[in-house]
This record gives sequence, C-alpha cells and structure tokens, in this order.
Amino acid sequence: MHLLDNNKQWAEDLLKRDPDYFKKLAVEQQPKYLMIGCSDSRVPLSSMFLAEPGEIFIHRNIANQANLSDLNFLSVLEYSVDVLQVKHIIMVGHYRCGGVAAAIEGVHRVLVENWMNPVRLLFKRHSKELEALEDNQHIYDRLSELNAIEQSLNILRSPIMHNAVNRGHYPSVDAWIFDIYTGLFKILDLPITEWKKVGYVHPGYKYHDD
Ligand SMILES: [Zn+2]
Repeated sequence: MHLLDNNKQWAEDLLKRDPDYFKKLAVEQQPKYLMIGCSDSRVPLSSMFLAEPGEIFIHRNIANQANLSDLNFLSVLEYSVDVLQVKHIIMVGHYRCGGVAAAIEGVHRVLVENWMNPVRLLFKRHSKELEALEDNQHIYDRLSELNAIEQSLNILRSPIMHNAVNRGHYPSVDAWIFDIYTGLFKILDLPITEWKKVGYVHPGYKYHDD
C-alpha cells in the first residue's frame, strides 16, 4: 500500500535530519496548541502549518463540533487544558464543509443528521442574515464561520475552561476559518465582551498571545 511506503520515506527523511529523532519524540509531548478541526481530508491540520510531530494536539470530527455532551471531545479538552496545559486552543472551521451543507440539505443518514443538529439550529438562529446571501455556497461558507464561532463559545463556557480561569492558568481560545479557495486561514472575531455580559465566559478570562 502506498501509504506504508510513504511512511518509510517519511521516517527515513527525519532520521537523516537527526538520527535520534524518534528517540527524542518517544520521551514525551509538550504541545502548545490544541486544534479542533473537521475530519475533511482536505483540511490536514498538522501539514498546513508545517508543524512537527509533538507540536499540535488535534481533535477532529465532522464539522468541528465542540459539543458539551460529547465525552470524546470533553476528554480531549480536559486533558489538553489540565494535563498538557496547552497555551492556545484553536477552533478551525473551513469553507465548503460537507458536514455544514449536510446540516441544511440532509444526507439521509440518521447518525450524521443527528450529529449535525447543532448546526441546523444555528442556521435557524441566523436564518435572516444567511438567507440574504446570494447563493447556497455563500450561505454554507458563512454558516461554517458562525459554526466555528459557536463551537469556540462551547469551549469557553465549559466547566473545564471556567475552572482553569479560576486557577489563573488557562489557554486562550481562537476561531479560524480555512479558506479552501486560497489555502489561507482567516481569524474570526469572537464577541468575548458580549459573552462575558451574559455569563458564558468567565469574567476573569483574558485573551493572551504568548
Ligand atoms: Zn468539514
């Protein structure tokens, strides 16, 4: 299988750079970042940032959901914040997300449609803004942005983040969108002040970029 041939090449290239590369890698991981992204094969998070193994802790699922009843996601978040003590959490959405489109169009698959329900509700909440856009692709792409923002809110409002802010040691949270038409990321604005006012975000949370 060509994947395993490629793997041999990859390992050989790294060993050429440093014969102890994998001995060092096996010791421990100290990633600075947690990224939550979509499972979409066109959004390979590590390689898009030229990241080395050990640099980014990654969680992926369809349409980058940070659902507060998802034990898989919550375990990743807890481990990243409490044990790995990552400095930054980045929620990564992307344009032309099939999951986001499926939330609106349906895919006749019970589990996927159930999983996408939060995005369908988000669409309903923002239907006025979204339906004013020129075509479906613009609607889905804007919904992908709104989804990344909403999922960032889920992270910020989680008890894991609130406890971390109480302890005075917590990661900052960003929302980015991968513009698949250019290959570049855009930073999305998070209305932190507004979210603090309604009690979603801990009043002591301050964005930091260190
Ligand atoms: Zn996607």
